[in-house]
Amino acid sequence: MAEMKTYTGGCHCGQVRYEATTDLTQVVSCNCSICHKLGAVLTFVPPEQFKSLSGADTVKTYQFNKKVINHLHCPTCGVQSYSTGKGPDGKQMFAINLRCVDGVDLSTLNAFPYNGRDA
Ligand SMILES: [Zn+2]
Repeated sequence: MAEMKTYTGGCHCGQVRYEATTDLTQVVSCNCSICHKLGAVLTFVPPEQFKSLSGADTVKTYQFNKKVINHLHCPTCGVQSYSTGKGPDGKQMFAINLRCVDGVDLSTLNAFPYNGRDA
């Protein structure tokens, strides 16, 4: 069983940095049009488990389709290290791109395939 840990992550150039507290048992590999292109592997955390360390005021927002998710990317290096949106229950959630999180070995995680393409 994975335990709850605080991870740090961010974009490639270092402008965007954050902390996220999560247990990495619920990891999602989504096949929607944007995750497919990004290769994103995601974990979802509520706002109280997410802390922006830098760059939140400079990130650019990209939206598409239903425009319910803010895809946040660094204006300098373009890496989308996290996004925000509302979950099915209407609460704000942060989707952390685990490919941008420090020290996470993705090959050890059991990513649950999510069929975002047809959602
Ligand atoms: Zn950057």
